[in-house]
Amino acid sequence: MHMNDLSGKWVLVTGAASGIGRATALAFADAGASLILTDINSDRLESVRQMVAAKKATCIVRTADVSNEAEMQALADFVHAKVPAIDVLVNNAGIGYLGGFSDTSTADWERVLRVNVMGVVHGCRAFMRQMIAAGGARRIVNVASLAGIAPAPNMSAYAASKHAVAGLSEGISLELRLKDCMVGVTTVFPGIINTDITKARHNVASAISDAQLARLCAYYEAQGVEPEVVGDAIVRAVLDGKDLVLVGPFAKPIYHLRRISRRVAQWLMLADARKAGYV
Ligand code: NAD
Repeated sequence: MHMNDLSGKWVLVTGAASGIGRATALAFADAGASLILTDINSDRLESVRQMVAAKKATCIVRTADVSNEAEMQALADFVHAKVPAIDVLVNNAGIGYLGGFSDTSTADWERVLRVNVMGVVHGCRAFMRQMIAAGGARRIVNVASLAGIAPAPNMSAYAASKHAVAGLSEGISLELRLKDCMVGVTTVFPGIINTDITKARHNVASAISDAQLARLCAYYEAQGVEPEVVGDAIVRAVLDGKDLVLVGPFAKPIYHLRRISRRVAQWLMLADARKAGYV
């Protein structure tokens, strides 16, 4: 289910106002696609619209909260009034959460799961039916995380949400294969990517000190790769019809190491977590 060419294809990216979503939007614009971009942050979304427009790519923006089913359905109605079905759906919007299990409140658990898991569910439910009905090669790209393969300490809520994204993506992929339709599913597992995700204090438990958070941010800046690396990998995966994308530091080695020895991989994760500032 590869796509030979992205020119004229409609690509929708959620969480497009920053980081990986913005880089993905710009990479698809470079590849000739037309963009529909959405986010909760309207000011930053507008600035990404201008960047895409500067590349002479068609770009429509509309704010929507992925965790809100009605808003995602309204977005889909708006899109389907212009385009019968999108060609590529990138469910990228997500939030981080840093905090020990005992310091993570039920409200925080629910918020993380609402955005990171239900956001992907709402995205798929709002756009998939039309993609299947329209026929032809199309693709859903769900952004999970290396934490969806190998959790770090102080990340149980985030890791649970990303394991859920990995599981639901594979489940949808198998169902689509049973239907013999040409809609493929790609799951993306980025490692450490230098974006604003670590900088949101409201997504950090109060038990985590400012100094620890500063250490984590510094680690992401020093060790992380730029989000453009992920954006380019997503475009390549759509062109090549790849189901699995392991991108960024540690993603490939940890994925393969865990298949050989979970324990050794966990030892490495713990050693790195102490260095990085997760603990
Ligand atoms: P980011 O904070 O730079 O960007 C996330 C974007 O999503 C922001 O523009 C934000 O406004 C938007 N967003 C947040 N909640 C939303 C909601 N409810 N509805 C709509 N938009 C919403 O972070 P990023 O690093 O680019 O993260 C993008 C995705 O990549 C996330 O799913 C994240 O979990 C995943 N990821 C990031 C890393 C990393 O190291 N940065 C690693 C693995 C996976």
